[in-house]
Amino acid sequence: MNFDFSEEQLMIKDSAKEFAEAEITPTTVERDIKGEFPSAIIEKLSELGFLGMMVSQKYGGAGLDTLSYVLALIEISKVDASVGVIMSVNNSLVCWGIEEYGSEYIKEKYLVPLAKGEKLGAFALSEPEAGSDATNQSTTAEKIGDCYVLNGMKNWITNGQSADIYLVMAATDRSKGHHGISTILVEKGTPGFAQGKKEDKLGIRSSDTCSLTFENCKVPKENLIWEEGRGFNFAMNTLNGGRIGIAAQAIGIAEASLEAALKYSRQRKAFGKTISNFQSIQFKLADMAVKLDAAKLLTFKAAALKDAGKDYVKEAAMAKLYSSKIAVESALEAIQIHGGYGYVREYLVERYLRDAKITEIYEGTSEIQRVIIARALLDSY
Ligand SMILES: Cc1cc2nc3c(=O)[nH]c(=O)nc-3n(C[C@H](O)[C@H](O)[C@H](O)COP(=O)(O)OP(=O)(O)OC[C@H]3O[C@@H](n4cnc5c(N)ncnc54)[C@H](O)[C@@H]3O)c2cc1C
Repeated sequence: MNFDFSEEQLMIKDSAKEFAEAEITPTTVERDIKGEFPSAIIEKLSELGFLGMMVSQKYGGAGLDTLSYVLALIEISKVDASVGVIMSVNNSLVCWGIEEYGSEYIKEKYLVPLAKGEKLGAFALSEPEAGSDATNQSTTAEKIGDCYVLNGMKNWITNGQSADIYLVMAATDRSKGHHGISTILVEKGTPGFAQGKKEDKLGIRSSDTCSLTFENCKVPKENLIWEEGRGFNFAMNTLNGGRIGIAAQAIGIAEASLEAALKYSRQRKAFGKTISNFQSIQFKLADMAVKLDAAKLLTFKAAALKDAGKDYVKEAAMAKLYSSKIAVESALEAIQIHGGYGYVREYLVERYLRDAKITEIYEGTSEIQRVIIARALLDSY
């Protein structure tokens, strides 16, 4: 077992940290308040190659491994989890899925600009009646002549308003249940395709989340990803990798919470000494640090398994389940350590809590992660 990162991985981590501190920090608070999408930051992230990190160089990506991606995503999310999720969706759910399952035509036409960050992607699985139960798709894609004609609605779609390219799960044959779901790529601006209003969210407010509607929206049959009937597998396989990204996002928030708590505990005085002298504060800091390390180890293991081409489904679910849980706990403890100051915007830790909560919900709730883990356990014993 080797706990060292390669020089290249450390270089990626450092450049992500430098970028986040110099380019993201200055506007984080304002964008959170206004719910403003970080367009300029996303443009600069693409110049760093951070929007197609794992895509092979042949298709315009950086050709890096999952561990490098995780290290970068932690640093970005530590400063701004909204930027983290935008990056995570484009890398894990859109680019990875297309490179793995898309036709050569799709890769040349769409993956290249997505990996270069010239275009932004979105992944549209959830519907008003299909969240955890993603098999219950109402959106349909009927094949008529040389086209698929889409009708239906998606909701909660990250990058929903800002994306250019959408991977949409839709039923091509409703009689076959989840074996009749397919993935169709839809470009923004296609007639019959519209974006709803931006959701006013508790956290990750600078990312945009909205519903999508399809009304007789015609796309060429070449926009099918993989094969007809494989859309549910496509979504589940893609989300397995996506969960490693969300675990990294959660770790970023947990690390930011710990660092803020450490710093404040050394500054704040009560009863004539800094509060870092109180054992109850020290124990909170120690517990936060242990949990953070455990979350990192789970997440690095899942990433390393993926890079080694081994099965990582259970490990990715474990990493997401645990990292999201400790992100919420760490943010709460950071607020407690800040006392009343933790409850106001000025000290940032209240945002960490608001941002952390979503990591327990999207890309499969914590309950669904437990279902995945238990299923894997029961299958293997
Ligand atoms: C900010 C945000 C961004 C999102 N981004 C995207 C995106 O980009 N693309 C996309 O497709 N979706 C996205 N989602 C949707 C997200 O993945 C779903 O919200 C999530 O999967 C839960 O589905 P739901 O909201 O319908 O809750 P439900 O499925 O209705 O769940 C409600 C509750 O019941 C529990 N529950 C449900 N089924 C079970 C079960 N079998 N066992 C135990 N408990 C269960 C859940 O854990 C939860 O606590 C996003 C959501 C949000 C809020």
